Amino acid sequence: MEKMKIIFLGTGCSNPTKDRNLSSIAIRFNGEWFLFDCAEGTQRQMIKAKVSYMKIQNIFISHFHADHVLGLPGLFATMALHGRDFPVKVFGPKGVKDLIDKSLNLIGLKPNFEIKCVEAKNGVILKGNGFEVSSFPLKHEVPTRGYVFREEGKAGKFSREKALKLEIPEGPLWSKLQKGESVKIGKKSFAPEQVMDYSKGRKGKTIAVVMDTVVSENYLEEISGADILIHESSFTEKMKSRAIETKHSMVKDVAKLAERAEVGKLYLTHISPRHKENEKMENEARMVFAKSYAAKDFMEIEL
Ligand SMILES: [Zn+2]
Ligand SMILES: [Zn+2]
Repeated sequence: MEKMKIIFLGTGCSNPTKDRNLSSIAIRFNGEWFLFDCAEGTQRQMIKAKVSYMKIQNIFISHFHADHVLGLPGLFATMALHGRDFPVKVFGPKGVKDLIDKSLNLIGLKPNFEIKCVEAKNGVILKGNGFEVSSFPLKHEVPTRGYVFREEGKAGKFSREKALKLEIPEGPLWSKLQKGESVKIGKKSFAPEQVMDYSKGRKGKTIAVVMDTVVSENYLEEISGADILIHESSFTEKMKSRAIETKHSMVKDVAKLAERAEVGKLYLTHISPRHKENEKMENEARMVFAKSYAAKDFMEIEL
């Protein structure tokens, strides 16, 4: 199976710069692309990064600030122009349907395909082939949602031969063992280890996407143990007052949270145009959490 891939389509905040487009992230899984936020200019970034908009079936919107959503109507217009005839789902905070309806009205677009709007609630919001996505609330100037993309793990390989040798009959007992439960036949009990090869199993990969928010303990559990944490980190310590005023995150706080949540790697994004050097941000974060990286447009991560 092809590897999961993350591409940063935009890593800036408030206004685009020569080097950074506004917020958007694409995740590839099983031949499908999942889009997290869609700022203006996202379409061109997608073309450059070879992200096919026809292979997008699910879009996750963190909140309705302009630097996260203005690319949506344009993207739908292009999909319509290219004859898309299958639905696209848009998840977002309360009011997502209203936002989409209004933006389509504004440009007079009546696409041939269905745009299904889903208000993201807490917990699992989407289950698909080999993955699930869950959502949780963040604290920003407007209602905002964080998302976790979770690949399904593989429990290990079941051995038919071993099961038959132990005289465990095919049927419900086999599926119990496959699920990791012990079974009993008469007085004999069998543990899953006797028929499962766990060396072939593996934990599913997890990617947490946390956009505009005040850093808080409230979502520590949701992001805990993620292989990749992508977190809004608009400001360094120097601009603390600005961070507090606009309800944004500061690099050091994000790094502290990443450490507590025991994530694999932290990627800082939604970076203020005032921060010109990635190294400074990385250094500030790495003093707390060594595996911190400042994202750049078109940066790709395979996992
Ligand atoms: Zn923003
Ligand atoms: Zn915002």
